[in-house]
Amino acid sequence: MTDSSVSAPQSLLPAGSFPYRFGRIVLLAWEEVLGKEAFERVLRETGDPGLQAAHFADPRPLHFKLEAFGQVEGALDTLYGEQAGRGMSLRAGRIALRKGLREIAGALTASPQCRGLRSLPLQSRILRGAELLAEVFNRNSEQVVRLATEGGSLLWTHERCPYCFGRHTQRACCHLLVGTFQEGLAWLSGGKHFAVEEVSCSARGDPACTFRMATAPLT
Ligand SMILES: [Zn+2]
Repeated sequence: MTDSSVSAPQSLLPAGSFPYRFGRIVLLAWEEVLGKEAFERVLRETGDPGLQAAHFADPRPLHFKLEAFGQVEGALDTLYGEQAGRGMSLRAGRIALRKGLREIAGALTASPQCRGLRSLPLQSRILRGAELLAEVFNRNSEQVVRLATEGGSLLWTHERCPYCFGRHTQRACCHLLVGTFQEGLAWLSGGKHFAVEEVSCSARGDPACTFRMATAPLT
């Protein structure tokens, strides 16, 4: 296994929080999948008035707590069942990646690391793309992402994962991030599909959340 270098987190956010600028992208993605009324019901189901207020706040807050996404995932499971909730979060994750790319499009274009990305061979392009995304996560929040390669796969390990922080589940549950990776790989490869699996999850007692992504597309 080869570890890849990703810079350490440099967040200035209060402990246990997540930046609203990026968090709102995720909330809006869920809202797009569910529709406004149904998503409001999900937010009420979380039982967290702070999260409901943050979604609609004006002026917008700078951050919300790290448990927020896990609360939404839990409310989806309660209201729609685990399987349907998983499908909704996978779709929301794909939408969030597209929204996120638009949010950081300027920074991406200006980034020297991003220049020439499209001309790299596919596997190198995927590794470079994952490094760029991990940098965004590490720089802007308390999340700690480590990357490694193993055989023909890329391993993304996420400590203090905001998609399950504070949750206790029987099965791996960070579905939104799986959807985000699926869409990211499609974006990097010009629309191809790749196997992505969450192989360990903090919510079910593993030390961290780890995702295995194939770097060769499905046929
Ligand atoms: Zn997780």
